[in-house]
Amino acid sequence: MKLYNSLTRRKDEFTTHTPGRVEMYTCGPTVYHYAHIGNLRSYIMEDVLEKYLRWSGYDVNRVMNITDVGHLTSDGDTGDDKMLKGAKREHKTVMEIAKFYTDAFFADCEKLNIRKPDTVVPATGCIGEFIKVISSLIEKGFAYEAGGNIYFDTSKLEKYYIFNDFAEEDLAVGVREGVEADGNKRNKTDFVLWFTKSKFEDQELKWESPWGLGYPGWHIECSCISMKNNGEYLDLHCGGIDNAFPHHTNEVAQSEAYLGHPWCGFWFHVHHLNTDSGKMSKSKGEFLTVSLLEQRGYDPLVYRFFCLQSHYRKSLVFSYNNLDNAAAAYSKLVAKIAQLDNTGEIDQDEYRRLRDGFMAAMDNDLNTSLAITALYDVLKSGLSDAGKLELIADFDSVLSLGLIEAAKRLKSDKPADEVPAEVSELLEMRRAARKEKNFALADELRDKISALGYAVEETREGTKLRKL
Ligand code: AMP
Ligand code: ZN
Repeated sequence: MKLYNSLTRRKDEFTTHTPGRVEMYTCGPTVYHYAHIGNLRSYIMEDVLEKYLRWSGYDVNRVMNITDVGHLTSDGDTGDDKMLKGAKREHKTVMEIAKFYTDAFFADCEKLNIRKPDTVVPATGCIGEFIKVISSLIEKGFAYEAGGNIYFDTSKLEKYYIFNDFAEEDLAVGVREGVEADGNKRNKTDFVLWFTKSKFEDQELKWESPWGLGYPGWHIECSCISMKNNGEYLDLHCGGIDNAFPHHTNEVAQSEAYLGHPWCGFWFHVHHLNTDSGKMSKSKGEFLTVSLLEQRGYDPLVYRFFCLQSHYRKSLVFSYNNLDNAAAAYSKLVAKIAQLDNTGEIDQDEYRRLRDGFMAAMDNDLNTSLAITALYDVLKSGLSDAGKLELIADFDSVLSLGLIEAAKRLKSDKPADEVPAEVSELLEMRRAARKEKNFALADELRDKISALGYAVEETREGTKLRKL
């Protein structure tokens, strides 16, 4: 498989340290709020990559952290603590916030058919490991204490900027707008490994350490959680493109300084989901969540389909119109699959040719949109229905669009009983309101319909009525 590697800035043949085994690490969510559908785009694409590697015969060990301490709102080591901000907003403790939003994150993942990683570790569950690695970095001369905090000394590295050739001044922490310079640092790219003197006097979670009561920086958690659970050699590290700098850059700095050898072979970065008005952000008022999409009548798997229709290395613009198009294409696809009747001999040559088409798409830097085209090719092919169903199920074990299940549901649906004209009219008005994105009116009409004894249900196959 050829995969774009941010480290070499080209598509490389994917290889692993131990043949047949992939040690894979993913930066998990910062659990101070719901994940927005932009975050989830990254997790969907990483899920497809993981499943495709398994499908190709690899044994995959996937590890993910949960950032429940130490993630600051700025790119540097300044700005507000995101977890504390969340706790204050909701009048809860940091741990209550972390638990609630960790559960919410995995509930969203389940709706999107995203497999839970083999190992999930909250940062607060790994403090001893952070202290061990930071102590060793100090011993090796890669870290120093200043003003009560422990910093990583980036001047000790041969090369700090590993992912890009940008000018140092463009990237360096301390010169960006809105980021304050930290006077304790010897070099502007140095970053905090452990805080004992933070500007957040009200920091709730603190631990004893050789340097005093404090808490870890954000970057150290991913290095430590990966090294502990994936071993010394990581094959594949994933995350959104915004994390390439400084987060992943700092992870490499710490891990390689600690280990004394190269750490991770492949870096997989998913580009952003944007809205018409720009970058999606959790801190900007109303943001797009899976629940919001559901409230507006969209099946979460339609969003997954929408994501897979584009390449992960291109930024993607979200709009309800684009999602409507994906929903229509998804319903059509399911309807076509529902017409297949699982009969006929399977022409093995044709079967292999079509399967090769899917593999060629996925092997070319995870081209999921071409993989979906390969799926349409199956439907158009001369293969028997039984062969088509088998291949579609095979492809969908990677794409995870729930196609076979949705087709089965569609097939087993019985025609609706006679519906009163008044209910049909209201349903039609509701359809029109939704088309115009007048969700308030659509909700009002749904209530009227339910007052007449019918529940309106949005399903993957379209809007349905159920007698109450
Ligand atoms: P966070 O919860 O902020 O730590 O982010 C979780 C993951 O989502 C990280 O891998 C980010 O790089 C990624 N991410 C953040 N914003 C977006 C976006 N708009 N589109 C795609 N991925 C994103
Ligand atoms: Zn990380």
